[in-house]
Amino acid sequence: MITYRSPREIERIRESCQLVAETLQRLQPMIEPGRTTHELDRTAEAFIRKQGGLSAFKGYRGFPATLCTSINSEVVHGIPSKKRKLKEGDIIGVDCGAIVDGYYGDHAITFPVGPIDQDLQSLIEDTRGALNAGITQARIGNYLSDISHTIQTFAEQRGYGVVKDFVGHGIGTELHEEPQVPNFGPPRRGPRLREGMVLALEPMLNLGTCDVHILKDNWTVITDDGKPSAHFEHTITVAEGGGIILSQL
Ligand code: MG
Ligand code: MG
Repeated sequence: MITYRSPREIERIRESCQLVAETLQRLQPMIEPGRTTHELDRTAEAFIRKQGGLSAFKGYRGFPATLCTSINSEVVHGIPSKKRKLKEGDIIGVDCGAIVDGYYGDHAITFPVGPIDQDLQSLIEDTRGALNAGITQARIGNYLSDISHTIQTFAEQRGYGVVKDFVGHGIGTELHEEPQVPNFGPPRRGPRLREGMVLALEPMLNLGTCDVHILKDNWTVITDDGKPSAHFEHTITVAEGGGIILSQL
């Protein structure tokens, strides 16, 4: 069942999203060679708590951390670790969720670590571009899959593999609510988009194959061919002129 949120509830979700956006902004200067993903996680959790929020991920189905940190061929759900140091030329997807007064926010950015190769730079820009293209389709009256189709078309026209095993989702008083929002599929399917829908859109684009698998830690998703992957996510609300981003400062 899809929950339609009142303007008042959407403002509560926005608060949580803003806290996540501030958290990622604070992490940005720490994205440098030599840092461990554990340090990023500690910083994020301390900041969220100081601001009166809670981590949405820690403890979620047993996930052990506040951030998902996914480096290079890791797609999503990488676990922060004291042993994992950033290196120049890496890319790292940082996904963060917070809860403020019972409402959830979810937002992810893929960052470069120092100077990176041009193909990685393009992967990052195009994954952000695919997300933005999807957001423009989050208009009242469109179909849900218009978002999916637009993201897939944007990505595949540029030669990327679109991950199909993980999808975007509704969000509000739970981290993952209905509907699922795939990053692929034909247009004009699924429910019509209505005022009050709040969605986390999150394309995952690969430089190579779209196929992925899960590592033995039961969390980390990795590309089958070992090529890099990028992930961007915004929490948005459906509106007349296209999606309104709640997780942007
Ligand atoms: Mg997320
Ligand atoms: Mg999400």
